[in-house]
Amino acid sequence: MITDFTQLSLHPQLVQAVTEQGYTNPTPIQAGVIPLMLAGHDVIGQAQTGTGKTAAFALPMIHNLEPHQKLPQGLVLTPTRELALQVAGAMTEYGRHSGARVLAVYGGQAYGPQIDRLQRGVDIIVGTPGRLIDLIERKVLNLSQVHTLVLDEADEMLSMGFVEDIETILSSTPFTRQTALFSATMPAEIRRLAEQYMNNPQSVSIQRDQVTVDTIEQRFYLVRENNKVAALTRLFEVEEISSALIFVRTRIETGDLAGELTARGYPAEALSGELSQDARERTLNRFRQNQIKVVVATDVAARGLDIDDISHVFNYSLPDDPEIYVHRIGRTGRAGKTGIAITLVSPLERRRLGQVEHFLRKKIQQASIPTEEDIRAHREQLLANKVMVWLKRGRCLNERAMAERMIAEGFDALDIAAAALKVARAEEKQRPIYPIQAVQETRPEPKPARKSSEPLRRSVNQNSFEPGMLRLQLNIGRQQGIKPGEIVGVIAKRADIPGSAIGKIRIQDNHTFVDVPEEMVQHVIARTRDVSIRKMRMDLQLA
Ligand code: AMP
Repeated sequence: MITDFTQLSLHPQLVQAVTEQGYTNPTPIQAGVIPLMLAGHDVIGQAQTGTGKTAAFALPMIHNLEPHQKLPQGLVLTPTRELALQVAGAMTEYGRHSGARVLAVYGGQAYGPQIDRLQRGVDIIVGTPGRLIDLIERKVLNLSQVHTLVLDEADEMLSMGFVEDIETILSSTPFTRQTALFSATMPAEIRRLAEQYMNNPQSVSIQRDQVTVDTIEQRFYLVRENNKVAALTRLFEVEEISSALIFVRTRIETGDLAGELTARGYPAEALSGELSQDARERTLNRFRQNQIKVVVATDVAARGLDIDDISHVFNYSLPDDPEIYVHRIGRTGRAGKTGIAITLVSPLERRRLGQVEHFLRKKIQQASIPTEEDIRAHREQLLANKVMVWLKRGRCLNERAMAERMIAEGFDALDIAAAALKVARAEEKQRPIYPIQAVQETRPEPKPARKSSEPLRRSVNQNSFEPGMLRLQLNIGRQQGIKPGEIVGVIAKRADIPGSAIGKIRIQDNHTFVDVPEEMVQHVIARTRDVSIRKMRMDLQLA
């Protein structure tokens, strides 16, 4: 077992550089990868940021440099400008006593200085695929002498659509090169790239920190793609959010969604890989200090975001890879707190949700988007609570004097109170409740033909628009403080059916409507008899 940098047979200049960095021992990915790369093998490293993966490929790459060459001998591909800069910075540090000349190239930067540096001679190039292709096409980048090539965060590069560029770059380098690929996840496309472009690669896999999802309440809402913003705003109304991170697919979406939410009265900010390091840090600090409650981010931009107090993670869309889902939701439920992970699932994403559930070996509970009535009732409840606080404190001397003057002018006390409440609610006008259309879901499971028993036929419900569902009425409602999650929980547990099988839940003042698949109705009614919920005996009957 390697526990010391001196055991790795690296040049002493490199050992000196890492010692100066304050590193005492190699990390597991370094102990695994460095000897393999020094022995000339192609390597696949499954490791995330934070494991020390940069030094794992940087040190052998620098070790193998021939002095006094003009053309690049090492090439590192990264998905983003930030990562290119970060890797090039680390390489420069590690290579400071070895005289390694490192250049970062990325889009948005002027070509002149990059071309100048290339002409003066560079040992290692770190760059984003797009800009590398540009430089190759301009015939200012010659990759014919590259003997070590690294694909860093390969999964991110693929999900950003760089696969063709990567293949072009791979084909522009010598066939005899050594190739190392690092990726947090190993989707099929990466395995294909490895098979095609790597030579008998050796794998080193570092167990990711086991993300525990046990402290996270996971729910999903089935909603049309074009109703997702409306659904989010409705959820923001009723969820107790202290801070929320919303994941979207693309950089463009971060800005669009943050703008859309802000315009609808729910201030949000975008965090995208496009931001300068400074701007990103500023946004993160404000998020950390709770000056911003809602941040919209891509997976790439949220990398390294380390904040313990996130109450909610929203998946505005489902990621392609279930591991990324787990990684995203692991941002909440930390430091002993319970977190909530909410996923908006369009009918098209339904199948992918199944893959996530399969990966988690756990069903994610389906819930219903709060109705307009729910939201109005919730708003009234919040206002009533606030008023109650002041009624109990009883220290509104100035306001009381104002009310007395109005009464002296002849106004009725009740009218004054009502008008004051109206004024207090004025800000609600900034947050209209947007309509949401019902989803016509085609349920994946085939249904057994319904037996035409009399009570069921009678109750084929007029309002039940989801095919195959029947509506039940529960004797408990809003006034008893019931929540949709509790109803799903009790029914799913008692009747031993997946929560996702339960359909729409509409909480009314004193009762609740619950939609249940037709073929489960009798079973559900039978199994929930004599069960208590909120200290009341539950009575579930056909509506
Ligand atoms: P990376 O996963 O390459 O982004 O590295 C994560 C952090 O770990 C960086 O701040 C490195 O400077 C640091 N690091 C890398 N290798 C070591 C090591 N052997 N000992 C201590 N810190 C390290």
